Amino acid sequence: MSRFVDEFMAELRAKNPGEPEFHQAVMEVAESLEPVLDKKPQYRKAKILERIAEPERVIMFRVPWVDDKGEIQINKGYRVQMNSAIGPYKGGLRLHPSVYLGLLKFLAFEQVLKNSLTTLPMGGSKGGSNFDPKGKSDLEVMKFCQSFMTELCRHIGQFTDVPAGDIGVGGREIGFLFGQYKRVRNEFVGVLTGKGLNWGGSLIRPEATGYGTVYFAAEMLATRGETLEGKTCLVSGSGNVAQYATEKILDLGGKPVTLSDSSGYIYDEAGIDREKLAYVLELKNVKRGRISEYADRFKRAVFTARDDSKAFNPLWDHKADCAFPCATQNEINAKDAQNLVKNGVYVITEGANMPTVPEGVELFVETKLLYGPGKAANAGGVATSGLEMSQNSLRLNWTREEVDARLHGIMKAIHKQCINASAAYGFEGNYVAGANIAGFLKVADSMLDQGVV
Ligand code: NAP
Repeated sequence: MSRFVDEFMAELRAKNPGEPEFHQAVMEVAESLEPVLDKKPQYRKAKILERIAEPERVIMFRVPWVDDKGEIQINKGYRVQMNSAIGPYKGGLRLHPSVYLGLLKFLAFEQVLKNSLTTLPMGGSKGGSNFDPKGKSDLEVMKFCQSFMTELCRHIGQFTDVPAGDIGVGGREIGFLFGQYKRVRNEFVGVLTGKGLNWGGSLIRPEATGYGTVYFAAEMLATRGETLEGKTCLVSGSGNVAQYATEKILDLGGKPVTLSDSSGYIYDEAGIDREKLAYVLELKNVKRGRISEYADRFKRAVFTARDDSKAFNPLWDHKADCAFPCATQNEINAKDAQNLVKNGVYVITEGANMPTVPEGVELFVETKLLYGPGKAANAGGVATSGLEMSQNSLRLNWTREEVDARLHGIMKAIHKQCINASAAYGFEGNYVAGANIAGFLKVADSMLDQGVV
C-alpha cells in the first residue's frame, strides 16, 4: 500500500471507527485512484477524495410501531445522503437486522460512483433500518413502513433524494412507503422508484438489476469472442436480483444450477429451468418461504443447510464457468474465491454490492478472470430507476422493449467506460480500477466546478 493510501485510510478509520465495511469500500477505491491523483493534482489540492468519503448529511431517527400483539417495537431508521454533485441523491432502502450506520455508509459511498457510471444525473445515498421483515405479517410491515416514512418524508423529495428498494424492500414495501409519503406530504410525485405499474412504476424495473448484471457478463465474455450459451452458472441469493439474473441467464442460453437464502443453498445439476424459476418466484415473492422447499418440490435437487463453522461456502465449490453472487456483502471469502478459481470459474459478475472480500478481489484481478465488480455490474437497477424518474417527469410510460433496450445500452456504456478508464491509467482488463476511476472522474470534476461545498 502506498504512503498516500496508508495515511488517507488511517485518518478515515480514526474518523469513522467501528465501520469495517465502509473502510473496505473506500480503501478499494483509494487504491485505484492513486495514478489519477498523481496525474491530476488539482483533485488532491481540492481534497476531492476526502470530501467524497464524508457524507453530505446523515439522518438517524427512531421508528416506533405497534406489533400484532399490541406491543410497542422500536427500530432505528437511517438515510445517508452521501453526494449530490451530479444530481439529486438516489439509492435504495435496506430492511435487515444487520443494518447499522457503517453498512449504509459503505453502500452510499459505492452508490455515488455507481450512479455516476450509469451516465444519468443521479447523486448517491442509501438508507434503511434494522427492522427484519422476515416473519412479520403484512400489517406489521405496513405499520413499520408508515412510521419510517412519517419521519423520512421530511428529508426526501423528487428533486432532493429519491429512495428505491434493496434487501428486504420490494414492491410491497415501496407501496406502503409511497402511500404514506403521499398522505403526509399531500403530493403525488416520483419520490420513490420501484413503484407499481398503476401508480408511476416502470416496466422492467423489477428485472433491471438481475438483467443488467447478466448483460454485463455477456459484454465481458464478448471481449473474448464468447457468449453465455451453454455456460454453467452458480447464482447465490433468491431475492429480486438473483431471480432476474437467473431468468436472463436462461434467455441467453446459460444453465443456472444454484440458488440460496440465509438458511442454505440448493444445487440442481439438471439446471433451474423456467418452470422451476416460476416456482421460486411464487415461493419467495408470494408465499415468502425458504429455498429448502425447492428440494422438496424438485427431488433431484440437493439442499445444503448453511454451516457457519465451515471455512467456506460449498455453493462456490462446484464446477462451473460463471458465478453471479446476488445475495449480500462479503459472501465470497478468500477460500471461496480460491475454490471458484480451482473449479474453473472464469466469469464472476457481482449482482450484490461488495460480495467479495478484498483478498478474493485481489485473486480475481491477479488471475485475470473476467471479474465485473458490483459497482459496474449491478448498476442496471439504479439506471432503470433513473429511467423511471424520467418517465415520471415526462408523464409518459415507455414500453417494455424500449426500457429494456435503454438498460442494455446503458450496461454496454458502463462496460466501455470501465475498459477505457482502466486502459487510460495502466490497468488494462481490470474492471475494478476501471469502474472506480470512471465513476470518480465525473463526480470529481463536478465537485471542482461547484467549489468547496
Ligand atoms: P432481496 O430481494 O431481499 O434478496 C436478498 C437475498 O439474499 C435473499 O435470498 C436473502 O436470503 C439473501 N441474503 C440477504 N442477507 C443475507 C445474509 N446475511 N446471508 C445470506 N443470505 C443473505 O434483496 P435484493 O434486492 O435481491 O439484493 C441482493 C443484493 O443486490 C444486495 O447486495 C443489494 O444491495 C444488491 N443490489 C440490489 C439492487 C436492487 O435493485 N434490488 C440493486 C443493486 C444492488 P433471506 O431471505 O434468507 O434473508
